[in-house]
Amino acid sequence: DSVFAHLVRAPEDPILGVTLAYNKDPSPVKLNLGVGAYRTEVTMLFSVFCYVDYRRLCERYSLCCLVHQEGKPLVLNVVRLWNGNSSVTPLSFCIICRARNKEYLPITGVADFNKLSAQLIFGADSPAIQESRVTTVQCLSGTGSLRVGGEFLAKHYHQRNIYLPQPTWGNHPKVFTLAGLTVQTYRYYAPATRGLDFQGLMEDLGAVPSGSVIMLHACAHNPTGVDPTPEQWEEIRKLIRSKALLPFFDSAYQAMFCLHFFALSIVDHEHTRIYLHYGFASGSLDKDAQPVRSFVADGGELLVAQSYAKNMGLYGERVGALSIVCKSADVASKVESQLKLVIRPMYSNPPIHGATIVAAVLKDSDLFNEWTIELKEMADRIISMRQQLFDALHARGTPGDWSHIIKQIGMFTFTGLNSEQVSFMTREYHIYMTSDGRISMAGLSSKTVPHLADAIHAAVT
Ligand code: PMP
Repeated sequence: DSVFAHLVRAPEDPILGVTLAYNKDPSPVKLNLGVGAYRTEVTMLFSVFCYVDYRRLCERYSLCCLVHQEGKPLVLNVVRLWNGNSSVTPLSFCIICRARNKEYLPITGVADFNKLSAQLIFGADSPAIQESRVTTVQCLSGTGSLRVGGEFLAKHYHQRNIYLPQPTWGNHPKVFTLAGLTVQTYRYYAPATRGLDFQGLMEDLGAVPSGSVIMLHACAHNPTGVDPTPEQWEEIRKLIRSKALLPFFDSAYQAMFCLHFFALSIVDHEHTRIYLHYGFASGSLDKDAQPVRSFVADGGELLVAQSYAKNMGLYGERVGALSIVCKSADVASKVESQLKLVIRPMYSNPPIHGATIVAAVLKDSDLFNEWTIELKEMADRIISMRQQLFDALHARGTPGDWSHIIKQIGMFTFTGLNSEQVSFMTREYHIYMTSDGRISMAGLSSKTVPHLADAIHAAVT
């Protein structure tokens, strides 16, 4: 008999398992709104890219025509260009040449990537960066960054308790428990208002033991799509600092779904000065990072896990970063030395490809500019899906107040549908979503909105 014969079959992952069930369904009208991955609308996109080949000091132009099919995964132009999959510009070609080396990276990853990632989240002019109080290590996307941060805390921090919002992304409790921390929760969401339970949140954080770790979603809370207002963030910050709690931010959606987005219009080819410009010009990258930045501005310490899965569409490349802001440069360098001891026995060192793409996009003003435009296209499409779904339910006279669909932000709508209604919609309409009623707005298109609206209508009437 097998030495593993005693094993019981483990359940599928509650989020990724939705895709497995979807894949097995032969229905032509099936719809996967489970996993948070961006999908295309039917669009014809003709863009003209102009790149300056700064190496050879001459200008080249390339014309790029893309036809997006409906409901397909999207590879951003900036990434496509870098990969050389479509029109290889002189600039992207140069980057490919430079990245040919496949030797091991250092334990902490691509140095440029780390520096630029810290600047993206904290701001290029952040005093913490200038004073070398930040240590940043490249990790395996958001999940890996959370895990490395969790293991570091379990080994070196005086408190084991980590408080997560209720509800939160389903993987959080598992990541932190396996890292060696003790997972607790604080109130966050009020089902009655489908908004923030601010009073409950403040009461719970006010009652946690001093020094506890508090996990905060930096923006676009998953799964609720409900974020504190700037004023509420300020109250939360004061409470956290007054009780010497340690904030650990999860930033998985920076700049993706902000309503007040405007694109970079100034292009500066002097690479050393680009960051000064984009800090002012790119709107939502900064706005979405504001809660994190206010916690840095007060001089206190914190951790941030960044993911480039959603905002650069690099899901499968597993590219992310963990930053720890410390009180002094001396402490930050000691922290980095210990992070290396956490990472080395876990996976030794991170992969090259994704981080090199991100560093190239963040560093080059043309690619950065193109990225901000693509971010805006994605954000606009999600917002338009919210409006179309809301209008479709309104047109059907579906009972209930559905205004939260347009009020919530981010990739998801927390519909308020219960698990029976969800299974009804899967059974009768072949619509797949997590059992808590969360739907990925990024998986919808104008063509599929009526089908979803019909299903919701039938589920609630
Ligand atoms: N945090 C949150 C809140 C998320 O929603 C996700 C992705 N679903 C992640 C972290 C991590 O994703 P990844 O590891 O793919 O970057």
